[in-house]
Amino acid sequence: MYNPRFDKKTFKKEVKNNVKSLYRKTVEEATPQQLFQAVSFAVKEAIIDDWIATQNQYKKDDPKIVYYMSMEFLMGRALGNNLINMTAYKEVQEALDEMGIDLNAIEDEEPDAALGNGGLGRLAACFLDSLASLGYAAYGCGIRYKYGMFKQKIEDGYQVETPDNWLKDGNPFELRREEYAKEVRFGGNIRVEYDVTTGKTHFVQENYESVMAIPYDMPIVGYGNHVVNTLRIWDAKAIVDFQLESFDRGDYHKAVEQENLAKTIVEVLYPNDNHYAGKELRLKQQYFFVSASIQAAVAKYKKTHSDLHKLPEKVTFQMNDTHPTVAVAELMRILLDEENMEWDEAWEITTKTCAYTNHTIMSEALEKWPIDLFSRLLPRVYQIIQEIDRRFVIKIREMYPGNEEKVRKMAILYNNQVRMAHLAIVGGFSVNGVARLHTEILKQQELRDFYEMMPSKFNNKTNGITQRRFLKHGNPLLADWVTEKLGTEDWVTNLSLMEGLKPLAEDTKALAEFMDIKYKNKERLAKYILEHNGVSVDPRSIFDVQVKRLHEYKRQLLNILHVMYLYNQIKEHPEMSFYPRTFIFGAKASAGYIRAKEIIKLINSVADVVNNDRSINGKLKVVFIEDYRVSNAEIIFAAADVSEQISTASKEASGTGNMKFMLNGAPTLGTMDGANVEIVEEVGIENAFIFGLSSDEVINYENNGGYNPVEIYNNDPDIHRVVDQLIDGTYSNGDTEMYRDLYNSLLKAQGGARADMYFILKDFRAYADAQKRVEEAYKDTEGWAKKALLNTACCGKFTSDRTIQEYVDDIWHLDKVKVEPIIDQTSQY
Ligand SMILES: *Cc1c(COP(=O)(O)O)cnc(C)c1O
Repeated sequence: MYNPRFDKKTFKKEVKNNVKSLYRKTVEEATPQQLFQAVSFAVKEAIIDDWIATQNQYKKDDPKIVYYMSMEFLMGRALGNNLINMTAYKEVQEALDEMGIDLNAIEDEEPDAALGNGGLGRLAACFLDSLASLGYAAYGCGIRYKYGMFKQKIEDGYQVETPDNWLKDGNPFELRREEYAKEVRFGGNIRVEYDVTTGKTHFVQENYESVMAIPYDMPIVGYGNHVVNTLRIWDAKAIVDFQLESFDRGDYHKAVEQENLAKTIVEVLYPNDNHYAGKELRLKQQYFFVSASIQAAVAKYKKTHSDLHKLPEKVTFQMNDTHPTVAVAELMRILLDEENMEWDEAWEITTKTCAYTNHTIMSEALEKWPIDLFSRLLPRVYQIIQEIDRRFVIKIREMYPGNEEKVRKMAILYNNQVRMAHLAIVGGFSVNGVARLHTEILKQQELRDFYEMMPSKFNNKTNGITQRRFLKHGNPLLADWVTEKLGTEDWVTNLSLMEGLKPLAEDTKALAEFMDIKYKNKERLAKYILEHNGVSVDPRSIFDVQVKRLHEYKRQLLNILHVMYLYNQIKEHPEMSFYPRTFIFGAKASAGYIRAKEIIKLINSVADVVNNDRSINGKLKVVFIEDYRVSNAEIIFAAADVSEQISTASKEASGTGNMKFMLNGAPTLGTMDGANVEIVEEVGIENAFIFGLSSDEVINYENNGGYNPVEIYNNDPDIHRVVDQLIDGTYSNGDTEMYRDLYNSLLKAQGGARADMYFILKDFRAYADAQKRVEEAYKDTEGWAKKALLNTACCGKFTSDRTIQEYVDDIWHLDKVKVEPIIDQTSQY
């Protein structure tokens, strides 16, 4: 699709002008980074008109707004995505070509906005893309971390973290909005004032520390519809007036403390994925952005509405996991203390405005704040939570008289902890899981008591991904081919049209074209790997890919143990037929997650041994791609033959990587976990490779003390051998201790953890068999092409457009907005 408003000549002039006025240089003299900035400012210029038009339309139509509250937005790069969604990518590419500038090289100058860890943060980013593309009014609300997700280097096989100073060259797309600053208060004490004239009690926070929250807005461009929504991320700064006042009073110490608080609060993203660490600074971050966002939303509402009781008709706060669930109490605080409402009316409004998305059932990920910490940091919010809890416990006792077990299990405050998930469920009108299986497990296991008490709150919203980034931008060859075959580009906004490709599974020529594109994408990835890893891989080999955060439940250890097993097989039976395979890994481990880091080291050690063993004729290669992130993910998905989705069943709530692989034509090798279940349902089990324990079986073992891995170890010589190779020095230059912890984790119960908690040995045989099936299937070239193509053809359900439409229909009830572009004669576009 061409954008008629994007005129090549004026765009070129704009870029030239920007280079001149920003850097006093010509295009020829400018560095690639300077060209990136100059091009981005030219693009932003074009976005601004639509941004204004959208906000004007919102003022006119007064649609309901969803505030997507998330500690994480894993946005990746903006330039290419903005051009795609403005439907101007190809014109800009041509315009830049004519100036001797390579758009791809310019795009590579942009640092990823890595304000997230993994799936949860990327989901938030995909949702913003879909909300804008579907024409719904939305804000993303988050934190402008000065340092995002760390950069990963591999040194001597070990992960080394370096800071991600993503803002060092400036962010051309952001807009600082000083005028919308909000004060956020921490600590101190609450003085209770009784007003005799009104008979009302007031709660006044005293002796607090506070910071100013300053919003930065980033445009979220909808696809081809002139809608531009906003990602609003908050920076913190000290309150200067207060500081001076303190200084005058000689309270120098307090002034310095407030400076420090402002500086530290937005300093860095916590690099934990699916893990709660209980750090005080983390709770400060949560309250900081939640309070600022809710204050801003209420102020915006009040500008054009007089009755706050109708807030739920115009606003929903969607809480992405428990991280922002202090929102429930903060909204109550604003309604009670600042708007002088009674408890019941404030509660009525709050419980119709807040909604909660659950992302995990794993106990180590559940946020439970110690009450002493929580009440010290947020004294008024804590009082409110006490009252919410008091009233809720009365309800439990009414419903289950004499059943104190229920109270213990469901109370918000219990065992000196604030249970954030319980606060979210009680204080919200909707609780959703993120894949069908996950929602069922929530209802039947983890949240069973809540489901019994309030079944109508519970619903499922299976995750999705945006095809704009993960196909149109990431895999332009396949995107163009799909457009040609479907005879329309409408799949970009209607992914169900992909099913129109299904007949091509019987078309030999189309299958060959499809696999030729896959081959070209494999060449592109091979080039990336050679440049970044110095390893040469053969694009004719099977590209078997596992990229995702490193976590024991995701079982990268199962994958690499199987590679060790294959290597043994090839060494022992050199004559055995074996289809060449390249195992590709990419994963960051949380900096403090020792065992995850050991697994990274093991993968790199196996890579060293295997890749340098000339006796196996390059049949096996192992590659660990450094610094896995959104920008290189786009290249990796496009090139994958096999999608490894091998989590212990019941542990992966949904997964979204699985969907990106499917979109790009890579069959799933996986367990019946998360959204894999629904992927198989869509594509057919014959077009996937499913293995292993079911979630019911896993849960059953868990409820009965686990299983005995030693028995498997003793009875299966192949397994015995690879497990022993962890401690016999094979992959550690003779060091028998380097991987002893991994060895022990598989065979011994230790420190409250069961032996092989994640059923790696239990599933090993089934996994190896499934891998054998992959090999057999791949050898049938046309049969494989069919499977691959059908994965792309059947991926329609997994667009985040579908997910968002379900949120709108069942939870948010937003109004669709149509934006008429401003035709500004003085503007250049
Ligand atoms: C999609 C994505 C994820 C999530 O991957 P899963 O396999 O679902 O865990 C993590 N990181 C990046 C960069 C992604 O693009």
